[in-house]
Amino acid sequence: MRLLSGGSAIIIVRKKGAVQNMDCRTAESLVNGYINHSLSLKETERFIAHVRECPACYEELETYFTVSMAIQHLDGELGGTMNMKRLLEQDLKKREWRVTNWKVQRFIGLLFLCGGVGALLALFGWLFLF
Ligand SMILES: [Zn+2]
Repeated sequence: MRLLSGGSAIIIVRKKGAVQNMDCRTAESLVNGYINHSLSLKETERFIAHVRECPACYEELETYFTVSMAIQHLDGELGGTMNMKRLLEQDLKKREWRVTNWKVQRFIGLLFLCGGVGALLALFGWLFLF
C-alpha cells in the first residue's frame, strides 16, 4: 500500500509541475549529503524527486557532483573522459533504483507479515473448530 501511495504521490507532484515535497532551501542543504552518500533512503527519495522537478536545484547538484568527481579524478579514482551529465544521470538512476528496491523489500516484508497473521488466525480458527 505504501509503495502504491508513494508512487502516486510522486506522479501527482509531477502532473502539477510543482515541487511540493521539499523546498529549495532543504534540497540545497541536502546536496552535500547526496554527494557524500550520507542521506537516508527516504531523504534520497525526496531529494531526487525535488531535483527532477527543480532545474535550479538540479544545476546546483550538477555543480557539486562535477566538483566532487573532479576531486576524485585528481585522486586517480576515475579514469577516462568524463561526461558529468551522464555520470550524474547514472548516479541518480542507481539511487532511485535503490530506493525502489528498499520500498519493494518493505512491501514484501509487509506481505509476509500479513501472511503470517493470516496463517495464525487460520490456526486459531482451526483449533476452535476442532
Ligand atoms: Zn529546488
